[in-house]
Amino acid sequence: MQTNKQIKIAVGAALAAILTLTVVRGVARHGAVHAVAAEKPAPLTLIIDAGHGGEDGGAVTKSGLTESGLNLDIALRADALAAFFGVKTVLTRDSETLYYSPGATTTRQRKAEDQKRRLALINGTDNAVFLSIHQNMYTKPAPYGAQVLYAKTDGSAELGATMQELLVQTLDASNRRAAERVGDTILLMNYIDCPAVLVECGFLSNPNEEALLRSDAYRLKLAAILTAGFLQQRDELLNLQNTM
Ligand SMILES: [Zn+2]
Repeated sequence: MQTNKQIKIAVGAALAAILTLTVVRGVARHGAVHAVAAEKPAPLTLIIDAGHGGEDGGAVTKSGLTESGLNLDIALRADALAAFFGVKTVLTRDSETLYYSPGATTTRQRKAEDQKRRLALINGTDNAVFLSIHQNMYTKPAPYGAQVLYAKTDGSAELGATMQELLVQTLDASNRRAAERVGDTILLMNYIDCPAVLVECGFLSNPNEEALLRSDAYRLKLAAILTAGFLQQRDELLNLQNTM
């Protein structure tokens, strides 16, 4: 368990890291700001999606660590960090408990209902940017490394590339994975109309990454990277949304 003081130090370090990761680009971009008309663009809303939840635990390790719990923990940390930077956020869930309608009786129906609810939330939010948090799982223990999957919508590939770069630079320089376009089977990522990325933070099937993901400091670092990635692309995303 971390003490309050340790948590404060860790959060402080994460904020400092985000500032370092974002300030450089912020300064470099200053010149272009003058050309923009005085009208203030509508702000973005970052929708932070902790993958799975409720009856759907996602991937589960042999030792019983569930993906849904890790996703939620990282999502809540990213939400708190984003708030420090004045980012408007919405969480698709904030607990492990999900409420289903009485009509949804099977796990399959309940999962479908939950996906529909998240989809309506995302597509019903103006100027949204979608960040979905997941963990990877493979049949063999060797594969490792965080990977970003991006949607086909405008702005997604750039956001994905930025996040992947930060994940490699800041988390694990030996990670050779590149950001990739998301597959057709991931429903949520294919039916949304805003810029979107799905981040597979690590492989639960890799013992080293499983151990890292169990640590509070590592999950905070992940949350800081995801927040910094969004902040780095914020101006580009804002321009994009306001010209659509
Ligand atoms: Zn997942």
